[in-house]
Amino acid sequence: MKLEKGELKNLLEKIHLNLNKLYYIATHDQKTELYNNIFFKDVFALELDKAKRGKALSLIIVDIDFFKKINDSYGHIVADKILEKVARVLEKEVRKYDIVARFGGEEFFIMLPSTALERAKKIAERLRKAVLKDNFLRKYHITTSLGISEYKKMDNFEKISKRADKALYRAKETGRNKVCY
Ligand code: GH3
Ligand code: MG
Ligand code: MG
Repeated sequence: MKLEKGELKNLLEKIHLNLNKLYYIATHDQKTELYNNIFFKDVFALELDKAKRGKALSLIIVDIDFFKKINDSYGHIVADKILEKVARVLEKEVRKYDIVARFGGEEFFIMLPSTALERAKKIAERLRKAVLKDNFLRKYHITTSLGISEYKKMDNFEKISKRADKALYRAKETGRNKVCY
C-alpha cells in the first residue's frame, strides 16, 4: 500500500497521539490523575542513584484517616471526590520537582528530591494543615496522617518506604492527624 505524503503525516500524528495516550494511561492513576506507583518507583530509582552520591532525598507517605468511615457515612461517590480533592491539595502544596503519586486506596507517596529530614518535616506539616484548611475537605472533617523517612546509606525503595510506613503507623497509633518520622 502506497501512502500519499499527507496520509502518512496523518497516520504518524495518530500514532503519536495514541502513544501519548498510552504513556499517560501507563503512568497515571485514573481516579486522581496523579502518577501511579509504577511511575513513582521508576523516578524514585533515579533519585536513589543521586542520593547514593550524596544528594538528599526524603519520602512522605500520606494516608487519609478513617476513610472507610467516610465511605460508610457519605457513600463512595463523595468519598471518591474527597480522594480527588486530597490529591489536588497535595499536588498544589509541593514544589515543581516533587512527585506525588497515588499508591493504592487512600494512600499517597511523595518524593522530595534534595530534601533532608528537617525540611521534609516542615513540608509534611504544611501538607497536613493544607488538608485541614481546604473548604471542601473541611465539610467532611478530613484529616491525614503522614510518615516520613530520609535516605540512609544502602537504602533501596523497599527499605526507605518501610521506614516511612512505620512512621505512618506511629502517627495512626498515637492519635492520627499528625506527622511522624
Ligand atoms: P486509618 O485511619 O487507619 O487509615 O483507617 P482507614 O479507614 O482510612 O483505613 P482502612 O485501610 O481500614 O480502609 C481504607 C478504606 O479506603 C477502605 C476502602 O473503603 C477505602 N478506599 C480505598 N480506595 C478507595 C477508592 O478508590 N474509593 C473510595 N471511595 N474508597 C476507597
Ligand atoms: Mg486510611
Ligand atoms: Mg491506608
